[in-house]
Amino acid sequence: MRQNADTLVIDTVEKLAALITEKRASRKVYHEEHQRITNEVSRLQEAVNKSKNNYEQALEHYKSSKTKYEDQYLKGKPGRKLDELKERYQKACKKLHQVHNDYVLLLCEAADYERDFRTVLLPGLLEYQERVQEDMIDKWRSLLSEVCELTDTTQGRYAQLQAEVASAVSAISPKTEYSSFSETNKSSPPDPVSFEFCNELLGDGVGSLQAGQLAVDSLTVDSLRLRLNDIEHSLREVTTQLREKQNLLNQHETEVVNIKTNSLQDSNIGSRLAVLKRASDVLRRELNELRCRESWLQHQHRLIHDPLAALGCEEAPQPWEATQVNGDSHQRSDSLSLKSRSAAIKELLRKPFNRSKTSDSQASTPPTPTRANTEERATEPDQNSLLEMTPGGQAEVPQAVNGVQELTYDPDRCLEDEPWFHGVLPREEVVRLLVNEGDYLVRETTRNDEQQIVLSVCWGSHKHFIVQTTPEGHYRFEGPAFPTIQELILHQHGCGLPVTNKSGAILRNPIFRERWELNNDDVELRDKIGRGNFGDVYKARLRDSGLEVAVKTCRVTLPDEQKKKFLQEGRILKQYDHPNIVKFIGICVQKQPIMIVMELVPGGSLLSFVRNHKGQLTVKQMMGMCLDTASGMAYLESKNCIHRDLAARNCLVGHRSIVKISDFGMSREEEEYIVSDGMKQIPIKWTAPEALNFGKYTSLCDVWSYGVLCWEIFSSGEVPYQGYSNTKAREMIDSGYRMLAPPNTPEEMYQLMLKCWQYEPENRPHFSDIYAAVDSIYAPL
Ligand code: ADP
Repeated sequence: MRQNADTLVIDTVEKLAALITEKRASRKVYHEEHQRITNEVSRLQEAVNKSKNNYEQALEHYKSSKTKYEDQYLKGKPGRKLDELKERYQKACKKLHQVHNDYVLLLCEAADYERDFRTVLLPGLLEYQERVQEDMIDKWRSLLSEVCELTDTTQGRYAQLQAEVASAVSAISPKTEYSSFSETNKSSPPDPVSFEFCNELLGDGVGSLQAGQLAVDSLTVDSLRLRLNDIEHSLREVTTQLREKQNLLNQHETEVVNIKTNSLQDSNIGSRLAVLKRASDVLRRELNELRCRESWLQHQHRLIHDPLAALGCEEAPQPWEATQVNGDSHQRSDSLSLKSRSAAIKELLRKPFNRSKTSDSQASTPPTPTRANTEERATEPDQNSLLEMTPGGQAEVPQAVNGVQELTYDPDRCLEDEPWFHGVLPREEVVRLLVNEGDYLVRETTRNDEQQIVLSVCWGSHKHFIVQTTPEGHYRFEGPAFPTIQELILHQHGCGLPVTNKSGAILRNPIFRERWELNNDDVELRDKIGRGNFGDVYKARLRDSGLEVAVKTCRVTLPDEQKKKFLQEGRILKQYDHPNIVKFIGICVQKQPIMIVMELVPGGSLLSFVRNHKGQLTVKQMMGMCLDTASGMAYLESKNCIHRDLAARNCLVGHRSIVKISDFGMSREEEEYIVSDGMKQIPIKWTAPEALNFGKYTSLCDVWSYGVLCWEIFSSGEVPYQGYSNTKAREMIDSGYRMLAPPNTPEEMYQLMLKCWQYEPENRPHFSDIYAAVDSIYAPL
């Protein structure tokens, strides 16, 4: 008994102390682990709130910078301030898109974690704890058995007590012991937290941003690619850790099997088995967590990868922000209805630059009489005759051979010289040139200040592929890489395979530059002669023919939308051929700045001309100017073109004071054109009441402006309704006031002006009648 008592006091108590220490340690581990995985939910909650705040701030900043930029733009004041505001706006837009994507990805991560926290991680930890506790209960039971044995006195009076103790001890079952403990002590799991996109953020819509969906556009595509790289890197790390831990677990399991099958008898075996069991439990828990992490990462990977893969090497779509201000009629593009968008596209398709179509339509239009072609000016050498030579002379590329000619590669020819390279021709113009399946061309575009070469192909719809650059500096799409873009295109044309498998687009007919697409280097800019809305106007010389021309430049920093609007003037002008309409020669889009080349009209604007010649012009000369303008306008009317900004400042004076109508920036080719809002830049004092009141434009509105223009001529460039504000002038007109005749205005001419200013458009004369009326006053003079 003494020996037993000694063992009990020394060994058993020591084991008991160790078991208590172990129990405490396991409790600590449990609490720490529990804390760790629970804290992650709180961390994610905080991160989501923070990300939402960032979103709100970015949205606020974006909206304010957009408003500032639009206000400045609508004030029509180009210059540094506008450029700065534009840059700020673009930055804010980019930031918003990035913050949007961060928010979407974080929500995805948080929702995944939260789900697994409740369904995998927390149950996993509890299961682990259960196993650890069961082990310890087992040990505790052995200890109690030991105590039982050691205290067995086998004396009768103890026998009953001893039997009770022994049976109680043997009744201890680790499984039920702990489960009854955990049953009475368990706490209910936390309520699920929902991580969902806050729809209020987007409210009435922010462009193309969609709740819970990544924005994949030219602003975000680069950052998304970087993010995808990061995720792929993390996935690789997780896969490696999974593999290593699984291997270790397998080793432990094999060792346990070996020990058991070989029934190795060793005093350390028991403790070794216990160590292996504990280590395996830990590994299983860690594997569980890693698998969750792997699935979260895979989810995020899919979210980013799928839209990027769908894009392939196609150009990322322009974000809606690129069209923030619609130059046309100064409307905001976000307010443009789908219908008017498609109408605008149709308009683009309907009115090609195509020369042959234009000349056909011109041939079918009866010639409008002009002072120049009916009178003494008929013999005057008009610059227009020279112009006939220039466009063809300028273009280096053959015409009418699109698609039928075999492409050849000349290593000495640079990309810009390739006939199918169209420089910075805007995407809309490009789309208009690609008509048949397989039509293609190559162009340049700028994204995030980086120049990219784009292959545009008509295949079903219009597809735009960015030429990819390999690390060696070669060029490719999905197939092989080539040292030059020319060789790549030649290969793609010759091999007959699709540019990308997804698009199926095959290159069949290279579309060559049209002859009005001049090279920027063909034009030698000389003196600055004016300043337009989009940029400076220069006197210039065409290198080949030596012809002096006027060149309107478009500031490089203007948004794409404005550049398109700038070119629109060229598209409209190109179709017209009339001595009283300034002549279009070509556009230069091989590189920036894009330019419109036109006939040089040396006398400057009609407004400054009449002001500078105040008191020197005869009535006949002034009537001649009215006749020129009427002739040009009758021509435009016959073409269904509404000028919308007819005024002395927008006409030019050429040789022998011939007047040429210019500045077609606001023109529309339609019988009737309705502007729904954004009338800010309207020249109120020149505009007819129905256009001001209802936004309704027809050629009869131009007739009203023509009356004001004639008044400007006879008043030597006075300001109409002098001394009255725009608003006051509008009120006066609505209440029936009309300007008086300037001194020396022939009475019939003033009567004609009054007819032009009839309040109801249907009571005004058409330009064909006006021409006849003005001619009948002019002829006898
Ligand atoms: P925008 O349409 O961009 O406002 P404008 O057509 O008003 O530009 O041109 C600005 C100025 O440039 C005109 O007032 C005129 O002095 C000069 N200018 C424009 N076109 C010509 C031209 N074809 N020949 C001579 N001068 C021109």
